[in-house]
Amino acid sequence: MKPQGLFLGYVAAALLGLGAGAASAKTIEAVASFTVLADVVSQVGGDHVHVISLVPPNGDPHEFEPSPDDAKNLKAADLTFLSGEGLEGWFERLVKASGSEKKPVIVSTGIKTRTMEDDGKTITDPHVWNSAANVIVWVANIEKALAAADPEDAADFKANAARYTTDLRELNAYAHTKIDAVPRARRKILTSHDAFGYFGREYGVTFLSPLGISTETEASAADVAKLIEQIKKEQVKVYFFENSNDPRLVEQVAKATGAQAGGELYVEALSKADGPAPTYAKMFRYNVDQLTAAMSK
Ligand SMILES: [Zn+2]
Repeated sequence: MKPQGLFLGYVAAALLGLGAGAASAKTIEAVASFTVLADVVSQVGGDHVHVISLVPPNGDPHEFEPSPDDAKNLKAADLTFLSGEGLEGWFERLVKASGSEKKPVIVSTGIKTRTMEDDGKTITDPHVWNSAANVIVWVANIEKALAAADPEDAADFKANAARYTTDLRELNAYAHTKIDAVPRARRKILTSHDAFGYFGREYGVTFLSPLGISTETEASAADVAKLIEQIKKEQVKVYFFENSNDPRLVEQVAKATGAQAGGELYVEALSKADGPAPTYAKMFRYNVDQLTAAMSK
């Protein structure tokens, strides 16, 4: 019996070896909820991961109508990445439509979140990525999930994560340096919706907006009137459009207060490849440059 057991052991080892070799040659098929996250996943995954974003470039991640193709992609994916904290309210419906049974990876786990009052309710602000410091937490969570799914390539994921974390630390320092140079009284900006809470907290800028945390809720006439009062009182001079949602309300408020257009910000969606914000790093730097230029005028 003994020699036979040994032989079987060899066969099992050979099969395991083969299996591991095949896994390493294989590319992980990943789905990410929106473009900002898809880019960060692909920075950490490198050549070993193919990433599809469900919400397209310039799309609104709060309000999204998934297509049958999205359901197919979700079902076929080895890994699914969500930011979490209430951003992807549409995801549960998509899971049901797809029949997928895999649990998504929630990359914002471990981030020190902030809460806000929205229609009398206290809710968590989902826009964590607008602070580069928070994206470092995303990277650690993504690396862990990729290494668990594809242990053969764990060393590569670790190296990619370390390199990209260095980039993020530099971006964070860049934002601090540029914004520290703007006098505090001038660091006030009007935007369409409340997507810069984490940016404001990290870098010391006040953002005011007619829409709450999510683009799904509508601002009441009373909310808008109150905001106009506040903007006049605090002498907010600049307003920004957002690439991923309707500019009419912010234009209306700006008109009533005399605030000047500062340009467009990329708040929760990357641009297309030929636009100014095709990656998270470019998006973040672009926003910092636009904001500091407007506040310094
Ligand atoms: Zn948002």
